[in-house]
Amino acid sequence: MSNPFEGARVKAKEALARTVVKVLKTKGYEAVYAPTKEAALEEVLKLIPGGASVGVPGTVTVREIGAMEKLKERGCAVYHHWDPSLTPEQRSQALMDEYCADYYLTSANAVTRDGKIVSIDGNGNRVSGMAWGRSTIVFVIGVNKVAADLEAAIERSRHAAPPNVLRISGDTPCVHTGHCVDCDSPARVCRVLLILERAVPSRKTHVIMVGEDLGF
Ligand code: SF4
Repeated sequence: MSNPFEGARVKAKEALARTVVKVLKTKGYEAVYAPTKEAALEEVLKLIPGGASVGVPGTVTVREIGAMEKLKERGCAVYHHWDPSLTPEQRSQALMDEYCADYYLTSANAVTRDGKIVSIDGNGNRVSGMAWGRSTIVFVIGVNKVAADLEAAIERSRHAAPPNVLRISGDTPCVHTGHCVDCDSPARVCRVLLILERAVPSRKTHVIMVGEDLGF
């Protein structure tokens, strides 16, 4: 049975995502709206040509839209370090390959209504690739990641930690409480915070704002 309230929910999400697209354009980003994850994938495929190399750091969103499989089908070399079959040496090489690829395809943990893109890492590799590099960046961000302001964006970013820790069968205090306790755990995954206030001028940065919930 269809949900009679779904239409209103979809429209409200579209309005919010489009608002953020407008703001991001004023901050130097090439930003577009995609209503669904399928449309987001189409936008990714418009931006990344066949044969290009693509680095995919730790991102659930990019995997959820099916981008990695489609890019491989069109002959792209897709580098990612989440492959559990990698040896430590291969994983280390994959991290470098991600960083040095033609395109850096990722998400963020949050984006504020005034256009700040916020991400928190445990190792810093993902945010390093967002902050500087020679690649073209493509962000895919679900509307669930829009936060009212910077404080809310950082809070939201830490809410992403418990499912991310559970994804790798890790154990941090937030896995048990369901919220951040600013832990001192050796397994802490919140160590490096990046706030992009504007697009970095030396490289092109695309943002695809999706009108659906994606990622953690
Ligand atoms: S409890 Fe630790 S790992 Fe969990 S969100 Fe807070 S700082 Fe991050």
